[in-house]
Amino acid sequence: MNLLSPLARIKGVGEKIGAQFTLAGIYTVGDLIDFLPRAYEDFSQVTSIINIHPGKMTIRARCEKISTRPVRRGLRITTATLFDDTGKIQAVWFNQPYRETQLKPARSVEQTGGSGEEFFFSGEFEFSYNRYQLTNPSAELVKDMPVQTDRILPIYRSIKGLKTPIVRKILNELRPLISMLPETLPAKVIKDEGLISRSQAVLTMHFPENIDDIEKARERLAFEELFQLLLASQLNRQENAKLIGWQIPFNKNIVGDFVKKLPFKLTNSQRISAWEIIQDLERKTPMNRLLQGDVGSGKTVVAGLVACQVSHIGLQTAIMAPTEILASQHAETLVKLLQPFGLNVGLLTGSVKGAARKELYNHIQDGTVQVVVGTHALIQEPVKFHKLGFVVIDEQHRFGVNQRQELLKKSQYMPHMLAMTATPIPRSLALTVYGELDISILNELPAGRLPIKTKIWSPNSRAQLYAEIDEQLVIGRQAYIICSLIDDNPENEIKSVKAEHVKLQNSIFKHRKIGLLHGKLKSAEKSEVMQKFAANEFDILVSTTVVEVGVDVPNATVIMIENADRFGLSQLHQLRGRVGRSVHQSYCYLVTSTSAKPTQRLKEIEKSNDGFYLAEVDLKLRGPGEIYGRAQHGALNLQIATLADTKLIRRASMQAKVFVESGSNLLEYTQLADQVQYYQRLTTLN
Ligand code: ADP
Ligand code: MG
Repeated sequence: MNLLSPLARIKGVGEKIGAQFTLAGIYTVGDLIDFLPRAYEDFSQVTSIINIHPGKMTIRARCEKISTRPVRRGLRITTATLFDDTGKIQAVWFNQPYRETQLKPARSVEQTGGSGEEFFFSGEFEFSYNRYQLTNPSAELVKDMPVQTDRILPIYRSIKGLKTPIVRKILNELRPLISMLPETLPAKVIKDEGLISRSQAVLTMHFPENIDDIEKARERLAFEELFQLLLASQLNRQENAKLIGWQIPFNKNIVGDFVKKLPFKLTNSQRISAWEIIQDLERKTPMNRLLQGDVGSGKTVVAGLVACQVSHIGLQTAIMAPTEILASQHAETLVKLLQPFGLNVGLLTGSVKGAARKELYNHIQDGTVQVVVGTHALIQEPVKFHKLGFVVIDEQHRFGVNQRQELLKKSQYMPHMLAMTATPIPRSLALTVYGELDISILNELPAGRLPIKTKIWSPNSRAQLYAEIDEQLVIGRQAYIICSLIDDNPENEIKSVKAEHVKLQNSIFKHRKIGLLHGKLKSAEKSEVMQKFAANEFDILVSTTVVEVGVDVPNATVIMIENADRFGLSQLHQLRGRVGRSVHQSYCYLVTSTSAKPTQRLKEIEKSNDGFYLAEVDLKLRGPGEIYGRAQHGALNLQIATLADTKLIRRASMQAKVFVESGSNLLEYTQLADQVQYYQRLTTLN
C-alpha cells in the first residue's frame, strides 16, 4: 500500500465506505491521510468513578449488568451498570443494542463473581432523565490499543454515512504508513525554522499525545502550505519577468497636458502611483500591479492618465468593472477625461445589444475605440482588440483568476495589468493574496475633503435622525438610505428597501423625491435610477448594497445605514465611502437593529475613517474570510493555515524568497513541486 493506493486497500474499507469517502473527494490513501481533524476532544485523562464530574470524560471500568429495552417504535435503549474500584455508574446508549454483545464478557461478573473484561469508556457524563449517567460512551477493551477512548480524540469534518469513530478506526490502520511519510520541505527550511518533520506532524494531528503537540504540528503544516503558496507566487513573478510586453515610452507632453486639463490638482499619492505605473510601462516586462486606495482616493483618474499615455503609441485600454453601474460610471468619467485628447471611449455591458453591440465590436477590433470600459461582457468570445496594451481590473477581488486571465489573453503581447481595489488589506495579507503583484497605494484623500462624521444611532430616536437628514436636504444635498433586504420579510425586523421606500415617501419625506435601487431591477432601470440620483432628480436614494462599490455622486452628503450591525466593517466602510466625495461636510449614520449596546465593530468604525486601520481590526475581529473576495479564497484553498497567521506568513515568505534567490531548482524537490506548480497555475495572472 502506498499513498496513491485506492482506499479499498485499507483494512475495514469496503465498497460502501469507499463510496462515501469518494463522495467527499477522498479517493486515495494519501487523500485520507491529508484529511485532518477539525477539532479535538480530550479524553486522555482517566477518571475514577468516585471523582466523576459532569462533562466529557474517560473511565476505566467493567460492566456489571447490561440490558436493552424498546422504548417506542424506532428507539431502543441499552442500559448498563459500570464499576471500578471506587464506585458504580450508569451508562446509556440509544439504538446501539450491539453494546450488549460487545460488553458481554463482563456479564460473567454476575455469574462467577470473577472479573469481566476491562474497558475504557469515553463520553459525556450528564444529568438526564432525572439522574446522572454516561450518555452514548464509546467503549474499547483496555487490552486493545484504544482508538476511540482514553486519548485526545480527533474529530473529523462529517462525511455523510461515515461517523467519526469509523474514520478514526480506518486512519488507525494507516498509522505505519503515516510514520513513514516523506518530507516535503527542503531540509534547510526545516532546520532554519525549527519545524518538526512532516510525518511527525501528520501523525500528531491524527493521534495527538498531548494538546501542546497539536499546536506544533499545526504550525508545521500551516508553514508548509504558506511556503508552497508564497513560493508559487515568487516563481510566477520570476516567470512574469521573462515575458515580453509592450514597451511604452514615457511621453512627458501627454502626461503634462492631461494633468493641466484636470479640474483639480492630483494628490501626492496619485502622482507617485501614476509615476510608478508609467515607469513599469517603459519596461519590456508586462506590469503586474495593484493600486490600493481607499474609497474616494481617486483611482479612476490614475487609470485614465495611464490610458492616455498608453494610447499615444496606438495601444488600447480595457477597463473591467464588476457591475454595470460601475462600468457606466467609469465610462462617463473617462469620456470627460479623455475626449479632450481625441480618444474614443466605448462602453460594453450586457445592455448593449443588437446592431449597437456589433458596431462596438467592430470599433474595438479596428482600433477606433481606444478605451473600452465594460463588465464581464469584455471577456466574451467575440470581443477582439486591435492592440490591447493595458488592462485595468476594478475591484479586482470580485473577479476570479480565470476571468482576469481571459481578458489578458486578448492581446498579441502580454498587456500591462493594473488591478484596483478599494478594500485595503493589511501588509501580511497582501503578501499571500497578491504575492506576485507590485503594490501602489493611494493613502490620502483629495485636498479639501472633510473627514466624514460617523455616528451610531439607536432605532428609538429615528425621528430625530430624519430631522438631521432633512437639514442636509434643505440646503440642497442628497442622502442614501441603505437597507440590507429587497423585500419585506415578516419573520424579522430587518428593513427592506421596498417597504422603507413606500413608508418614507408616504410619511416623513412626503415632500422629497425618493429613488429606489436594488439588485433585482433590470440593468437599464438601475442605471436610470442612478443617473437621476446623480443628476439631483432624487433627494434620497433608498438602496441595497448595490451602491457599495465606487458609485460617485459628490453632492450626496448623508448615508444612513439600517441594521448596521448586520454588515462587516469593510463593507460599512465601503458604503460610507459613497459620501464625503466633495468639499461639503458629510455624515454617516449607523442605525442599530436594537437599542442594545453597539458592538465593538460599530464603535471602531465610528472612531476611524482609515480603511487600512479598519481592515486590520476586521482581520482581528472576524478573520480574513470577510476581507477579500470569495473567488480568491476558493482558489487559495488553504486547509490549515489561515491568513490571520501573519507571523507565519512573514517567515514563509522570507524562506520562499531565499529559495528562489539562491537559484534552487524546484524540480529537485519532487515532493514539493506538484503542489507548488498547482498553486502557480491557480494564482498566475499570466
Ligand atoms: P475611487 O475610485 O478611488 O473611489 P474616484 O476615482 O471615483 O475614487 O474619485 C472620487 C472622486 O474624487 C471623483 O469625483 C473624482 O473626480 C474626484 N477626484 C479624484 N482625484 C481628485 C483630486 N486629486 N482632487 C479632487 N478631486 C479628485
Ligand atoms: Mg472607483
